[in-house]
Amino acid sequence: MNPVAPFPLEGGCTCRAVRYRLLTKPLFVHCCHCTWCQRETGASFALNAMIESDRVLLLHGELNVVNTPSNSGLGQKIVRCAKCQVAVWSHYAGGGDAVSFVRVGTLDHPNHLPPDIHIFTSTKQPWVILGTATPSVPEYYARDDYWPPESLERRSALLAARDGHRSPAYRGADGSCRTGAAEGREDRRRSSLRRTCVPPQRCR
Ligand SMILES: [Zn+2]
Ligand SMILES: [Zn+2]
Repeated sequence: MNPVAPFPLEGGCTCRAVRYRLLTKPLFVHCCHCTWCQRETGASFALNAMIESDRVLLLHGELNVVNTPSNSGLGQKIVRCAKCQVAVWSHYAGGGDAVSFVRVGTLDHPNHLPPDIHIFTSTKQPWVILGTATPSVPEYYARDDYWPPESLERRSALLAARDGHRSPAYRGADGSCRTGAAEGREDRRRSSLRRTCVPPQRCR
């Protein structure tokens, strides 16, 4: 991450109906070379700044949320300008709506957010030549090995707040009440499923 980036940063869609502000630096910036990102962008990789959604301020404009399949099978929500349909950020199943993957190319000055890591380089285009200054991994990675301590702390706070909101009772799809702890177990089960069952060419 560029330590001198002047936050907040602003960005928006092409027709300028949607404008947003990133209030702080993101948690981490992924440059993803997976085949899903290649198809969804029509380009050779996607550059996503992962940040708590309450740090992304919508200044104006109407958003259109498009449910899109993902390789995990859990789907992603791509958030687009309702007018010009340019995608400004996404939510994945893992972090849900609480985490936004802001498309760095929609920032007014995307140069402020270079990638912190290149992921899924096993499927990168051969003409994309990566230097050694930024870590790169063939598929995904262990968060604790790469994220700065401050970002790990922010993530812990986010999870605690989310689980706190669900406690003491979370109403299941069948109408039954479940505790926040039960929901936490379900989340862990889902994430272990993702770790073990998902084929490699996925974004996350
Ligand atoms: Zn627009
Ligand atoms: Zn990807």
